Amino acid sequence: ESLNQSLSELSGINVSFEFFPPKTEQMEQTLWKSVERLAPLKPAYMSVTYGANSGERDRTHDVVKRIQNETGVAAVPHLTCVDAGREELIQIAKDYWQSGIRRIVALRGDLPPGTNNTEMYAADLVALLKDVADFDISVAAYPEKHPEAPNAQFDLLNLKRKAEAGATQAISQFFFDAEVFLRFRDRAAAAGIDLDIVPGILPVTNYQTLKRFAGFTNVHVPNWLHKMYDGLDQEDQTTRNLLGASIAMDTVKVLAKEGIRDFHFYTLNRSELSYAICHLLGVRAQNG
Ligand code: FAD
Repeated sequence: ESLNQSLSELSGINVSFEFFPPKTEQMEQTLWKSVERLAPLKPAYMSVTYGANSGERDRTHDVVKRIQNETGVAAVPHLTCVDAGREELIQIAKDYWQSGIRRIVALRGDLPPGTNNTEMYAADLVALLKDVADFDISVAAYPEKHPEAPNAQFDLLNLKRKAEAGATQAISQFFFDAEVFLRFRDRAAAAGIDLDIVPGILPVTNYQTLKRFAGFTNVHVPNWLHKMYDGLDQEDQTTRNLLGASIAMDTVKVLAKEGIRDFHFYTLNRSELSYAICHLLGVRAQNG
């Protein structure tokens, strides 16, 4: 049976989209165009990342509120605990609950350069949020191990602690080898981790940015991917988009065939590739 054949019989696909708060007027326009384009696909939710400085925090809240008010799609804020006090986190969580937010992506956040310990890890934040209200909580998972974790087993036990603290979904770091994700899912199940583990799909539109990202996130960029982009003009956005879509489509086909039904897209605030990949998965725009 071909991958395309099995795709045409898919049902029950759930998608979610991740955005980041825009920094300029132009990026703001791009973001809202993308939100408008993707909202009719009726994703399970749209999430908004949270940055380390307070300016970006306010922008996260603003984007979340606007998605919630204007699209009818559940808006999900990311929240980090690395540089916030417990009281502040409790207050933010209370405010979110009161404004109708029911899911949060709970993260530790990256440590500021030069530090190597923290009072709170993501598992502690999950517990804190659950104390405030009965949120649905998503956490991060790392098929290729978080860069700071001493080994893969330690990292897996950390994921288990996040589940035991009350998280119900884990979104994976991006990856380029579907097998890497599938093996991770199996290891998590074998470790008794009771979480929906959703692949994080990064449709690549900028190879240079990707190389940088992959470097500090410990994500392996396979040789075939380097080769695929080799010799391509940086100005040639159309070809780069087509390649990025093709790569991500191959990945989701394999995952769908292996029974994966939920997909999270790192949209980078763009809609074109995510939209096309969703279409391939049988996700169609619905009116109203
Ligand atoms: P944790 O689960 O706390 O793990 C961090 C590290 O500490 C791991 O190596 C873990 O094994 C180790 N560890 C855990 N507990 C202990 C312990 N008790 N003792 C010693 N070591 C321990 N960053 C942002 O700033 N904003 C965002 O919006 C954001 N969104 C993200 C979304 C997704 C889906 C993903 C995958 C990542 C995101 N990140 C974001 C990045 C994330 O903040 C970093 O990867 C961060 O370094 C780890 O966060 P975590 O929640 O996975 O941390």
